[in-house]
Amino acid sequence: MYDLKIINSKIIDMETGEEKTCDIGIKDGIIVDVGNCHGSGEIEIDANLNITSPGFIDIHIHEEEIDNVIKTNSFDVTNKMILEGVTTAVAGNCGSNKQSIKKLADYINNCGAPINYLSYVGHRYLRGLAGNIDPYSKASERQIKQMAEEVNKSLEDGAIGISFGLEYSPGADFEEIISLLDLVKNRDILLAAHYRKDAKYGIDSIKELIEVSKCTSLPMQISHIGSCTAFGMMEESLEIVQNAVDEGIDLLADCYPYDAFEASIGSPVFDEGCFELWNKSYDSIMLSEGPYRGKRCDKNLFLKLREEYPTTLAIAYVMNEDEVIKALQAAFVMIGSDGFFKKNQGHPRGAGTFPRVFKKYVREMNKLSLRDALRKMTVMPAERLGLANKGKLKVGFDADIVIFNPETVADKATFDEPTIPPEGIKYVIVGGKVAVEDNVLLNNRLGRFIERKQEI
Ligand SMILES: [Zn+2]
Repeated sequence: MYDLKIINSKIIDMETGEEKTCDIGIKDGIIVDVGNCHGSGEIEIDANLNITSPGFIDIHIHEEEIDNVIKTNSFDVTNKMILEGVTTAVAGNCGSNKQSIKKLADYINNCGAPINYLSYVGHRYLRGLAGNIDPYSKASERQIKQMAEEVNKSLEDGAIGISFGLEYSPGADFEEIISLLDLVKNRDILLAAHYRKDAKYGIDSIKELIEVSKCTSLPMQISHIGSCTAFGMMEESLEIVQNAVDEGIDLLADCYPYDAFEASIGSPVFDEGCFELWNKSYDSIMLSEGPYRGKRCDKNLFLKLREEYPTTLAIAYVMNEDEVIKALQAAFVMIGSDGFFKKNQGHPRGAGTFPRVFKKYVREMNKLSLRDALRKMTVMPAERLGLANKGKLKVGFDADIVIFNPETVADKATFDEPTIPPEGIKYVIVGGKVAVEDNVLLNNRLGRFIERKQEI
């Protein structure tokens, strides 16, 4: 007797692309049979020949503040992501954490979460702990030592590695990065980095990240490469990364399927000279929260908000879609949402990324095959993260599963209404239990915190 049996599943073999119809038997949260399942299930669901895939793994999100989760009894970010079929995500990206790894892990271990979480410890968060609150100044030797101690503590508490947000901490030079990494005891970690600067500076920024990986022999995940070089230099940047990969440097990247990015209006991304850099004007910036939500900037509004309300989220419509597509197609690029919401306001990538790839780039524009899209959402991030039991529908693997209709799956979130759930997601299963049925969230406490060391 299975706990859960899924009949009439259509599964795509990630290596051969072959489709086969089968049943899946699940017991104690683990896939125990794939093929003809003769036993019955305590719960049985009919996939109705829809695609049945391993749950999507989002290697790049920005997590909730746990104090706010407790206050509202809701997860601002992952409550939406699970409706897309995401069952595991990586928090703490771009150098930032909302709280200590221990606080995040303890809460999720005690109370559950919509999906499974892993987390980096962020370099900007560490700088704050060490007392460096000026993003434009370099950390002192003493501060670097203190940051390294905090890294070692965070790794003990289950962090998977260190993330950097160099664009947001311009004072952190190459030497600061390398000095910090030299002091980290555990070498079995993953680095992720939001590059130092975009557009024409993007090439040098990517070279810097390659150099960090080379000097430290640590694997590097280049964050949202689309917003780094989809300004006329994507092809060159992809070639540089591919050449480094061919030399044996352990580099991969992620990308979200949108040609606009989001950041706080007061952040260094919008420092003087940004519009010349992007060859755009003030009206390429739309405010995405607060009283001006939905409004395009002019010079006065832009300067006023930077001065008076610097944390206001803003969308920048500044990238070239054809170059974002080139990034999505690159062999070393996986799908990552960079998803983040603040009181239900923000960028639609937090509620639409995965269905959008299927709708727009697989179905409508034919830029990716269904198999390649699925690989970039499942097996590729699972391997990158060392998740030996996730990313495949095989016996012995965790029963994190999404069932969706490949003909109708579609994102509905827009820049005006960024939290509208997608369509076409039939079921999402986390740890062998049904979390979502027909786009409706039934259980948002099935996820757990995954420590990197548990998986090795
Ligand atoms: Zn970032």
